Amino acid sequence: MSMVKLLTGLFRRFRSFVLKRDVEVVGQCRMCGKCCRGILLKDAGRFLKTEKQFRALCQSDPLHECFRIVRQDEFGVLVFNCSKLGNDNICTDYESRPALCSNYPAKSLYYHGGWLRDDCGYSFKAVTFRDVFMRRKSWGESRFTDVLQGQIEQDKDKRKL
Ligand code: SF4
Ligand code: SF4
Repeated sequence: MSMVKLLTGLFRRFRSFVLKRDVEVVGQCRMCGKCCRGILLKDAGRFLKTEKQFRALCQSDPLHECFRIVRQDEFGVLVFNCSKLGNDNICTDYESRPALCSNYPAKSLYYHGGWLRDDCGYSFKAVTFRDVFMRRKSWGESRFTDVLQGQIEQDKDKRKL
C-alpha cells in the first residue's frame, strides 16, 4: 500500500469518527465491466503477491478460481482479470459471483484510501469538515437574521403604541 493511500485512509477514518458520519455509496452500475479487470485480491488483509498465495486463496474459497493473473504492479502486487466477464461486459455467472463482487464498491475501499474510477457509476459521498463548517455558518447566519427580524418587528410594534 502506498503512503498516500495509507494516509488518505487514516484521514478518512479519523474524519468519519470525529463527525460521526459514515460514508455513503451512491449511484448505480453502468455495467461497463471495468471493475472486473485489473483487480487486486487480498487474503487475510494482505494483497496477493505470489501465485502460491493465490492458489492458497483458491483452496480456501474456490469462487476465486475465475481470476487470472495478468501482471504485477509496481509494488509487486498481483493484478487479475476475471474469466467470467462476457464480451458484452456483463458477468456470465452473476448469481454465483464472489462476495468481493457482490459487495462492490465496499465502504472498506474508501476507508483504506481507495478510489473508484472516475467513469464508474458509483461514487463515495462523505461529509467533510468544510461541509460541517459551511452548514454551521449558514445556520448561524439564519439565526442572526431571525433575531434581527424579530427585533425590527418589536421596534415597529413599539412605535405603533
Ligand atoms: S466500474 Fe462501476 S459502473 Fe463499471 S461495472 Fe464496475 S461498478 Fe459498474
Ligand atoms: S465474477 Fe462476475 S462480477 Fe465478479 S469480477 Fe468476474 S465478471 Fe466481474
